[in-house]
Order: sequence, then C-alpha cells, then structure tokens
Amino acid sequence: MVSFQPTEEQELVQQTARNFALRELLPRAAERDKTEAFPLEELKKLAELGLMGVAVPEAYGGAGSDPVAYVLAISELARCCASTTVAVAVTNMAAELVCRFGSEAQRQHYVPKMVGGEAICAAFALSEPQCGSDAASLATTATKTADGWVLNGAKQWITSGDHAGVIIVWARTGEIGSSGLSTFIVEAGTPGLSIGKPEEKMGLRGSSTVALTFEDCLLPEDAMLGDPGRGFQQAMVALDGGRIGIASQALGIARAALDEAISYAKERKTFGRPIADRQAIQWMIANAGTQIDAALLLTLRAALLKAQQQPFTREAAMAKLFASEAANRICYDALQIHGGYGYTKDFVVERLYRDARVTTIYEGTSEIQRLVIGRSVVGQ
Ligand SMILES: Cc1cc2nc3c(=O)[nH]c(=O)nc-3n(C[C@H](O)[C@H](O)[C@H](O)COP(=O)(O)OP(=O)(O)OC[C@H]3O[C@@H](n4cnc5c(N)ncnc54)[C@H](O)[C@@H]3O)c2cc1C
Repeated sequence: MVSFQPTEEQELVQQTARNFALRELLPRAAERDKTEAFPLEELKKLAELGLMGVAVPEAYGGAGSDPVAYVLAISELARCCASTTVAVAVTNMAAELVCRFGSEAQRQHYVPKMVGGEAICAAFALSEPQCGSDAASLATTATKTADGWVLNGAKQWITSGDHAGVIIVWARTGEIGSSGLSTFIVEAGTPGLSIGKPEEKMGLRGSSTVALTFEDCLLPEDAMLGDPGRGFQQAMVALDGGRIGIASQALGIARAALDEAISYAKERKTFGRPIADRQAIQWMIANAGTQIDAALLLTLRAALLKAQQQPFTREAAMAKLFASEAANRICYDALQIHGGYGYTKDFVVERLYRDARVTTIYEGTSEIQRLVIGRSVVGQ
C-alpha cells in the first residue's frame, strides 16, 4: 500500500524549507537573476538547517531524513529560487553518493564538509565538452603513479564548480566504454585544477556553471570512490536520485508559475470581467493544476521506492521527464495569461519561464529519459 501522507518529520522538513525560502530566497531571487550573484550566504544557512543533506545520516552531518522529505524540501525551495535550489540538489546528490560508495574514512572526512557548510556546496563533474548524454565516452583520464592519481582532461557545465569545496569527478582509468570509468573525490584548490569563467545562461542565472580543466592534477591514492571501473554505475545511481531532485525543482517552478498566473488572472480585467472568469484561461489553469498533481505523485512514487530501497530508475526517469516538460508547458501558459506584461522582466513569470527551460536538459535530457523508460517498458 502506498501512502502519500507526509509523516510529522517530512512535514517539518517541508515547513523548514518553505519558511527559509519565503524569508531568505524569494526577496532576492530577481536580483540574483539579474546580477548573477551566487547565493553563498544562503547556502551556508541552508547547511545549518540540514537541507544540504536531507537524506544524509546525522552521523555524517545530514538531517537524517528521507527521499520524500527531500522532494518536499526541494520543491519548496525551487518555488522561490530555482537557482539556489540547483546548488542544494547537486550537493545532496554528491553527498549521498559518497555515503553510498565511499569508505568509512571518506564518509567521515568529506560528507560533513559537503553538507555542513564548510565546503559551501559540492559539485558533480561528469559532462565534458564533447559528451553529455553519452557519458560513457568521456575522455578525462586518471593515471596511477607512485604518488597517487594524476587527472588530465576537461569538464563542462559544472554547476557550482567555482564555489564547491568538494568536486566529484569521473575519469577514465581503463578501457574504452563504461567499464573503464572511475569516480574521484577532488578538493577545491588542488594544484592542476583550473576553473573557467561562468557561462552566461538564459536562466538559473544565480547558479554558476563552469568548465573545469585538469592538468597533471595529482590526487592522493585514496581519492577514488569505491572500486576502479565502477564509475559509470555509480554515476547512474547518483543520477537516479538526482532526477528526483530535478523533478522536484521543476515542480516548484511550475507551482510558482501557477500561483502567479492565478493571481494575475483574478486581477486583470478585459471586456469588463477578470480574465480568470474566461473559460480559455480557466482551462490553462486547470491543465496546470492537473499536471502539477500528476508530477508530484510521480515524484513521490520514485522517492518512496528509493526510501524502501527498491529499484526506482524507471520511476525517477518518468518523474523527471513528466515534471520538467510539464513545468515548461505551465510556464508557457502562465506567461500567456500575463499577456504582454509576461514578456517583461517586471513580472516573475518571465524568470520562471527561463528557469524552467533547463530542467528538460540537465541530469539527462528528455530524450535520454525516454530512452531509459523505453528500454525498461519494452523489456518488461
Ligand atoms: C545549466 C546547466 C547545468 C549543468 N550542470 C551539470 C553538472 O553539474 N554536472 C554535469 O556533469 N553536467 C551538467 N550539465 C550538463 C548536462 O547534463 C548536459 O548538457 C546534458 O546531459 C546533455 O548533454 P549535451 O549538452 O552534451 O547534449 P548532447 O548529449 O550532445 O545531446 C544533444 C541533443 O541530442 C539528443 N540526444 C543525444 N543522444 C541521443 C539519443 N541516443 N537519442 C535521441 N536523442 C539524443 C539530446 O537529448 C539533445 O537533445 C549542465 C548543463 C546545463 C545547461
């Protein structure tokens, strides 16, 4: 039996995220978008609240909660500032990865730093200039020497890569293909690691996205996460959980767009009546409300399966696919409801529309989600 009634603890996490987002994120969300200011202080406070490691055990500095609480928290944060939320989501994903595959020494050394504010946040460096969807073809190498591992190569699109104190990096240690990849933990400031200038993006402008270059970057012997050759599987496990996070982020953006659309539609009058009275507008709002509920249920299902330690790859892909595409449709309609005003920076919906766009691209494009779902459905 599946229950979607949150527990007291899940509600507490949700309420904590909502209060923080309304008080600390929303007031400066437009400014962050305009100036591309990274939310450094906000992330430190989020760490204090346990929201950088929602499902990370308390023993490693996390909140010790679960994936359902994580969905509720991320969607509350994204409702107010999607840029800040992506840094939070990536940190949660990276910290959970180290908890799952790291040695006890790695967990104790890195996870409290990642989730507790000392490292500000964490980054996840898989994509490269020549490959995103096809991660198994990545070209960064890690070569074993007497002193440890030497990294050479380039990463692209790394969220928070210029602020993160801990970066999880995938590199090739073996043959061509997915079985030649391994995962490494890299600390910021390691000699040989250089950081490119932040991309100037269409949306999520308060999140920084950078290229990383590794030139004879020497890592200690124990920098590898788990066993050699297991990197691809580890990345896929992390991305399954990550997709729950991006579905939740999309959900938060969609809810904000619906809120904006409803309040504008009630206020704006044409031909003597509020546009909210018109069937054409109500249908857009009805579609949005229905899609938001469907996205939430899909996302909670994936989170519940994860919490029960059951397979959830297909369910996470479905949640991410549906929620991200729904968020884009909902933002489109919400902007339409605003008429010409929606096309200006004076209205929140313009930012939401831009912020939603990337949710069908990162952590696996919609095409890749359909590929994952298709293989699973056909294989059944
Ligand atoms: C703002 C932002 C932040 C990001 N943050 C991170 C991060 O922190 N860490 C990280 O590692 N990466 C990050 N990424 C990278 C992101 O995950 C990739 O952009 C994404 O996986 C797509 O890869 P690509 O851009 O190389 O596109 P490609 O893989 O080149 O794909 C191009 C197009 O072809 C389609 N396509 C590809 N293969 C197939 C196929 N087999 N069948 C059908 N269609 C296909 C894709 O869906 C897409 O439409 C970020 C990207 C952005 C924009």
